[in-house]
Amino acid sequence: PYEHKRKPEWLKTKINVNHNYRELKKMMRGKTLHTVCEEAKCPNIHECWAVHRTATFMILGDICTRACRFCAVKTGLPTELDWQEPERVAEAVEQMKLKHTVVTSVARDDLADGGAAIFAATIRAIRERNPFTSVEVLIPDFQGNWEALKTVMDERPDILNHNLETVRSRSDRVRSKAKYERTLELLRRAKEMQPDIPTKSSIMIGVGETWEEILETMEDLRGVNCNIMTIGQYLQPTKKHLNIDKYYTPKEFVKLRKEGFARGFDHVESGPLVRSSYHAHEQVKSAQQS
Ligand code: SF4
Ligand code: SF4
Repeated sequence: PYEHKRKPEWLKTKINVNHNYRELKKMMRGKTLHTVCEEAKCPNIHECWAVHRTATFMILGDICTRACRFCAVKTGLPTELDWQEPERVAEAVEQMKLKHTVVTSVARDDLADGGAAIFAATIRAIRERNPFTSVEVLIPDFQGNWEALKTVMDERPDILNHNLETVRSRSDRVRSKAKYERTLELLRRAKEMQPDIPTKSSIMIGVGETWEEILETMEDLRGVNCNIMTIGQYLQPTKKHLNIDKYYTPKEFVKLRKEGFARGFDHVESGPLVRSSYHAHEQVKSAQQS
């Protein structure tokens, strides 16, 4: 239904490689760690690493038990479960002098706790070495294992992030095994467990949703007291992935940001290149101030 499918100008970024970034990159090469920033070839990497001092680490390996149609991560049976990993992440955070650290993982449906214990150990290890960095966890749904969620919440991350990814009507088509309602339930329970910890969720748009549905999604998130929302343009990682249905204009993203604030979010990031962890350090500040 939409006419222009060619990549619009506002999505073509100029890469500004600075000295800081090169050094960080060299340092990361020596470690057996995965970052989403590098693996997803995130367009914000220079700004995040070198200017804002934010990075997103992917723990628990780089093979996922699920196969979402928008995601470039490999699907298979994971083998990694490395209890040294939390310490390695903590060391990298120290060397990168991060102010805000995001920790995420693939969905480990092969593990009874979905990897929650490693998330908890990673939060502890980062805090021990880096008392001044804020820690955000972007967790999978642990298949609805709420004890596993509690293991993570007990470590009191600065932000609990769990993505809704898309609107209700597109959810089953876009995501694999995840359920729209279960995602909302996770966010609701996290808030009940630790009411003062800000919760956050992201969607990508351009996968066939309507404007009205985006607004409904905002309301669903506010209905479970979610504090922070991020909205970005879906970009197809390879031709085999889900097609892009529409490119939203920067103006439309600004409009959505306003719609989000009008519904009571403490912080809304909305823009073509916005990713879940983009400007995350500012999100911590606005959630703390509210
Ligand atoms: Fe990394 Fe997220 Fe920044 Fe991209 S937006 S570079 S994934 S921290
Ligand atoms: Fe990608 Fe996460 Fe889906 Fe796994 S669960 S395929 S890592 S989006």
